[in-house]
Amino acid sequence: MVDQRQREIAENLESVRARITSAAKSSGRNSDEITLIVVTKTYPVEDIQRLHGLGQRHFGENRILEGAEKAAMRLPDAIWHFQGQIQSNKIKDLVNWADVIHSLDDLRHAEKINERVDVKKVLIQVSLDGELHRGGVAPDHIHELAEEIIGMSHLELKGLMAVAPLEEEPDMAFSRLATIFQRFIRDFPQCNWLSAGMSNDFESAISHGATHVRVGSSILGKRS
Ligand SMILES: *Cc1c(COP(=O)(O)O)cnc(C)c1O
Repeated sequence: MVDQRQREIAENLESVRARITSAAKSSGRNSDEITLIVVTKTYPVEDIQRLHGLGQRHFGENRILEGAEKAAMRLPDAIWHFQGQIQSNKIKDLVNWADVIHSLDDLRHAEKINERVDVKKVLIQVSLDGELHRGGVAPDHIHELAEEIIGMSHLELKGLMAVAPLEEEPDMAFSRLATIFQRFIRDFPQCNWLSAGMSNDFESAISHGATHVRVGSSILGKRS
């Protein structure tokens, strides 16, 4: 399926990968430490097939049912990440397809996921804006939630996730995140994933220690 769209995606993917490599280099890091998750929300399954044909394996979705439909393609070795808002009544659907849940911010959701699965990888979403309505746990409460999650036999806590607030310079926000993360891995050294950075700010996130970047529009184009 090599078509015009395939070439466009290939170019963008190549360019984002190159930028990841150079951002890693600039901060003395190895680009092997950084996983690129292509956020495919709102884009059709054909685009995911194109990405898969280009060797991309990590895909991210924000909606539980949309992710379910796409993961149902069963592309070989595809790894599905969820970074959207978790709704309790859809957790059963979510755990069926999501390999990694980035946006856990509620103990009750953790308990519900824990009931439903063999073992699920999760990250705690940290709020960087002091206003919790955009999702995420206040930095003062992540250790407490982490202790609870680590006590759950069916959850594997991998680390932290964050989104830079719209109204702030990403560098400021991610530098705060880096401090929060360093404190966090001192207590939980095995939870060393840091999911941060989107199309507009992934280079900044990498300079502040991100291990997983979630990039959509730079690769697939503007969402309508
Ligand atoms: C949509 C989304 C992304 C990707 O955003 P782009 O700006 O398209 O790169 C990453 N993370 C989260 C949480 C998102 O909702």
